[in-house]
Amino acid sequence: MKAVVLEAPNQFVTKDVPDPVLQEGDILLRVKSCAICGTDIRILEGKKTKGVRFPSTIGHEIAGVIEDVKGNVGPWKKGDAVIVAPVIPCHACRYCLEGRENACQNRQAIGYEFDGGFAELLRIPAIAVRGGHVMELPKNLSFEEGSLIEPLSCCLNGIRKANVGLADSVLIVGAGPIGLMHIQLAKAAGAYQVIVSEPNAMRREMAAKFGADLVVDPTKENLADIVKGRTGGLGVDCLILAIGVPPIVNDLMKLVRKGGTMNLFAGFPDTGSCTIEANVIHYNEINVNGTSASTRLDYLQSRDLAASGKVNVKDLVTHRFGLDEFRAAYELAKAGTGIKIVIQP
Ligand SMILES: [Zn+2]
Ligand SMILES: [Zn+2]
Repeated sequence: MKAVVLEAPNQFVTKDVPDPVLQEGDILLRVKSCAICGTDIRILEGKKTKGVRFPSTIGHEIAGVIEDVKGNVGPWKKGDAVIVAPVIPCHACRYCLEGRENACQNRQAIGYEFDGGFAELLRIPAIAVRGGHVMELPKNLSFEEGSLIEPLSCCLNGIRKANVGLADSVLIVGAGPIGLMHIQLAKAAGAYQVIVSEPNAMRREMAAKFGADLVVDPTKENLADIVKGRTGGLGVDCLILAIGVPPIVNDLMKLVRKGGTMNLFAGFPDTGSCTIEANVIHYNEINVNGTSASTRLDYLQSRDLAASGKVNVKDLVTHRFGLDEFRAAYELAKAGTGIKIVIQP
């Protein structure tokens, strides 16, 4: 089969490799769509190395059709259209027991420890099959939409961590694919106004289309004044940082009302070091937290949100490439001129 093989940081090539060999309880998936994630770009660039093997095939936003099964795989059979929740918890550590399986101490993931979806065929290991990671792709969702359930599930986890609820004001910083999902989820959660800050004109346009109540260009407008003006001088109830830029964290914290929540959703480069005025957190009693990956429940619920039409993932896809064009897809994703880019093996 053909696969994108990551040989070292910054070194990847599409080539012929042996088909995956199934073990008892495994499923072989013919990948129909695998979307490129910001994390994939950081891995390919060598900016993220934790859990990454060389050589390996990455890609964790996956939808496809079951090609083959081996032994007992529960209800699944050849020809079923499915999606796959990629984070596989141990079910036994303290975090798993707390229901934070996304933060499992012994977590493995498809696209990291197990080869991922930038390939024609993918082996879904028995541990994932048994754990309920394979889920039916609803008939009204395309494979492309199915591959966007994974990032949506991370955003659903983030919206919960950001405490977005009925009648809240929300500021979302960054209107890439993740920011655009957050806009829709915040509206669905009952926010009365969603303000979006984004320097890129095309992305601002998308933010408005996906339901933002106010879109701000922080390079030309004063975001702080606008946020204060729209919230009676208080600041927003919830702030979601959907771009990983450490130096802006401190100023953004000041746009959260007393007792509000700031969620650092996007991963930062390196350690993410930056200087913060800790008294802003102290005196304003704000909650600052983070989000990493998602649980199987987040994934299942995100699928249902997309299938019911509550969240539009379809219009997020701006570009499609084959496996042979992976390098071009990567360059486009890095340039940020598209929104969501999918590989169609
Ligand atoms: Zn992802
Ligand atoms: Zn665990």
